[in-house]
Amino acid sequence: MEEIEIIKPDDWHVHFRDNEILKAVVPETTRHFARSIVMPNLIPPILNANQAIEYRKRIEKAIPPTDSFEPLMTVYLTEETNKSELKNAYKNGTVFAVKLYPAGATTNSESGVKDIKKVMPILEIMAKIGMPLLIHGEVTDKEIDIFDREKVFIDQKLDFICKKLPELKITLEHITTKEAISYIEEGNKNLAASITPHHLALNRNAIFVGGIRPHNYCLPIMKREEHRIALVKAVTTGNPKFFLGTDTAPHLKKDKESACGCAGVFNSTYSMSILAQIFENEKSLQKLESFVSIYGANHYNLKINKEKIKLIKMDKPLKLNSSLYVNFETVSIFNPEFPIFWDVIV
Ligand SMILES: [Zn+2]
Repeated sequence: MEEIEIIKPDDWHVHFRDNEILKAVVPETTRHFARSIVMPNLIPPILNANQAIEYRKRIEKAIPPTDSFEPLMTVYLTEETNKSELKNAYKNGTVFAVKLYPAGATTNSESGVKDIKKVMPILEIMAKIGMPLLIHGEVTDKEIDIFDREKVFIDQKLDFICKKLPELKITLEHITTKEAISYIEEGNKNLAASITPHHLALNRNAIFVGGIRPHNYCLPIMKREEHRIALVKAVTTGNPKFFLGTDTAPHLKKDKESACGCAGVFNSTYSMSILAQIFENEKSLQKLESFVSIYGANHYNLKINKEKIKLIKMDKPLKLNSSLYVNFETVSIFNPEFPIFWDVIV
């Protein structure tokens, strides 16, 4: 049996939600990952340091005692975010980064930013103190085709921010297009991007195979195969500007399988197995560790983890569990529906 040992990975983009879902999903992340950047789009959103501290406590309560895990907290940027409070929260370590959602871009993003110019004074301070800005990079204009929203955001908004503030540390999150890859590759050294397992695994056909497949619906929406191939190439060639952010985003099954199903793929359970398989299929298994355990930490100026995990290639494909139980309800676990032989031993 083939076996590899890698530095314990970090997941630089997770949604833990709250309450009963939080209790169920946190251990799915802490089993394989040492640190995560936690998204603030709760109802109501995490807008300030005090709310982040309280949310962090709820997450910590859900971490199994056998796992060592550090949640890195974020606040949700609005046009009203208090600059001096944000500065203090970063300096005293309670808030790690700021998340920019264009208003209406995804789940619970109604109070996001409508006019980037209005938040520039906040971004200037972040650039000065070294605080990272995490961006959901899609425009929300109804007249822009849903498959073009990332590209238009880059052209109309991201380019403006990068040119005004080249010293600001920016992560363009969960990128999905070849245009995003080129923009990041050519961008300044403070600009990097996270990529999800599901955008590496599937193209947009997966949303419609044999009928509508709500569990493959997420935002940014999956794109054409040529974009997926570009994403896979970017990560398997080992470019340090691209690192893992799973964007694991649980919703109850009934809220996905609905006339207006929620966006989000819950993938933390098998992310490492799926990624190992994708990298092996590309004959690039030796690049996996950098993508999941090194490049993200370097971008955020954090130490590389000391612990290790082992991945073992089984003789037969794994049988993946389809659901995670949340009391008497379930969250469907992402399954890319190709054979996966890699199991994680911790
Ligand atoms: Zn997300």
